[in-house]
Amino acid sequence: MVARHDQTTDPVLLEGLLQARRGTAFFARKLNELTDADLDGDSLLPGWTRRHVVAHVGYNARAVARLVEWAATGVETPMYPSVEVRNHEIDFGATLSPIALRNLFDHSAVHLNVEWRDLPADNWHHKVKTVQGRTVPAEETVWMRTREVWVHAVDLDNGATFNDIPAPVLARLLKDITGAWHARGTDAGLLITADGTDMELGDTAATSPTLVSGSLPAITQWATGRGTEGVAATHDGGPLDLVPMAPAWI
Ligand code: ZN
Repeated sequence: MVARHDQTTDPVLLEGLLQARRGTAFFARKLNELTDADLDGDSLLPGWTRRHVVAHVGYNARAVARLVEWAATGVETPMYPSVEVRNHEIDFGATLSPIALRNLFDHSAVHLNVEWRDLPADNWHHKVKTVQGRTVPAEETVWMRTREVWVHAVDLDNGATFNDIPAPVLARLLKDITGAWHARGTDAGLLITADGTDMELGDTAATSPTLVSGSLPAITQWATGRGTEGVAATHDGGPLDLVPMAPAWI
């Protein structure tokens, strides 16, 4: 008999799983609001139709599930054999019939959820490797999936915005992105704050930084490279006409 509830009892992990499942349900809702013809339309991602986004989110669930299977069995199974294979898979998926594309999203999401649900508590600490080559505990797969479903629901461009994304997800995403900039040194001279939070991110050691600020949803949207709406920039106390472009995220 397979258990019908999560094997982990770790409250932090269970909270993370909740955000991943809510995000998956949110993406499903936005996808269901699109007609088959709508799928041919552009997404917010340059060069990608909505079909590409749906295919990518579906194949992402399969890839994340491979990592969970790795943690369950100890048999190394990478997310993708290579970046070329990943990209080819998305281009192929985008050509599927609307029903096949919707099934890809549904089935892959259910499969991933079953893999998470049935992963024994101890195995969540087993190490797996991300597509970027980082070694992480299997717990990290929950966050990897969470940010994909929430952000790409916005990319479907049929009404979802960063305001729909829960604040804890936004805060973690913003810390992830600014952390990546900091590691690469691409945040030089940029100080980032989110209204109503005590977050101060980016080049916190800069003597005369450009301050970029806005609500948590707006500043996170900006950080992901999705425009400057709702974001303001100042330098030496004076407002700038042009908000600087966010450094590259991925
Ligand atoms: Zn993605």
